[in-house]
Amino acid sequence: MKKILVTGGAGFIGSHLCEKLLSEGNEVIALDNFFTGNKKNIIHLLDNPYFELIRHDVTMPFFAEIDEIYNLACPASPVHYQYNAIKTVKTSVMGAINMLGLAKRVNAKILQASTSEVYGDPEIHPQPETYWGNVNPLGIRSCYDEGKRVAETLFINYQRQNKVRIKIVRIFNTYGPKMHPNDGRVVSNFIVQALQNKEITIYGNGSQTRSFQYVDDLISGLDKMMNYTPEDFHGPVNIGNPEEFTIFELAQLIIKLTNSKSKISFLPLPEDDPLQRKPDISLAKEVLKWEPKIYPEEGLLKTIDYFDNLLKEYF
Ligand code: NAD
Ligand code: UDP
Repeated sequence: MKKILVTGGAGFIGSHLCEKLLSEGNEVIALDNFFTGNKKNIIHLLDNPYFELIRHDVTMPFFAEIDEIYNLACPASPVHYQYNAIKTVKTSVMGAINMLGLAKRVNAKILQASTSEVYGDPEIHPQPETYWGNVNPLGIRSCYDEGKRVAETLFINYQRQNKVRIKIVRIFNTYGPKMHPNDGRVVSNFIVQALQNKEITIYGNGSQTRSFQYVDDLISGLDKMMNYTPEDFHGPVNIGNPEEFTIFELAQLIIKLTNSKSKISFLPLPEDDPLQRKPDISLAKEVLKWEPKIYPEEGLLKTIDYFDNLLKEYF
């Protein structure tokens, strides 16, 4: 049995990860400041004697004897990470320093939840890990993008200088049950709008693209990366589903799958919104023997079901 720390453990991805790690017989500590996370996501785990939930902010040092750390703490939706941009940078950078310091002290293996946002508005398509990215350091997304880029820099330097056992995963757009209904990201927005027959809000003309992976595929990718041997494969490795959609196509698909009467409305495109995004997952396939298994329609139907039940609870 391993003792595993999950920062951001009450969030969307973190809560799925805690469930999976507990089901494999590990002891899990979830750390969260509940900025975007929700106790509801992990309430069913609280009776498990091998699960601990601690209210803590990763910008402050934390100490525990643990074997592994998954560093997920950070708001991920543009609406939430832009709410307090300075805090977002602090969470990424000071959170990484604190967790890397802990990993160094107790000789834990540590995985960083990095992001496709390190590629910014990419000029290379699809994006391989070797691409350095195209990020506006002054733009409204930079608190997140640059914060995550510095976190990667910290990770690789703790490895080089201190031999900390690090892993970096660049996560592409992920969706699934337990996303917050007001999270502000496109999949949750469109599903909630479609289920309520409200206007579907496309930002811009909807020609920008994203590639969406279902959360179960991501969790299996994180697990494969953390447990991959030899340990000197540090990444970064892209984990995402290469099936690419325009945002307009996504809106149409969600309207179809929900049998919705919603109409589409077009709103201004936010500043620096990347025009295209699609992972090159050759490295994950070759090294980790990982590839996504859930088709978009299958994952979307599960997510629609989740939000449908959630909305029935509210109304
Ligand atoms: P989320 O907002 O649901 O989860 C983030 C969690 O971190 C929340 O529970 C939040 O309360 C917590 N948190 C935020 N700041 C904190 C702080 N200072 N101290 C302690 N806890 C804090 O988002 P998510 O989608 O689950 O994302 C999890 C991680 O994965 C993030 O690091 C995100 O950058 C990364 N990621 C997610 C996606 C995606 O599409 N979901 C894509 C790329 C990367
Ligand atoms: N988007 C949209 N309507 C919404 C929410 C998002 O058209 O209600 C667009 C957004 O402008 C972006 C894409 O969908 O082009 C993905 O947005 P999201 O916030 O989910 O993730 P990110 O931009 O970080 O990939």
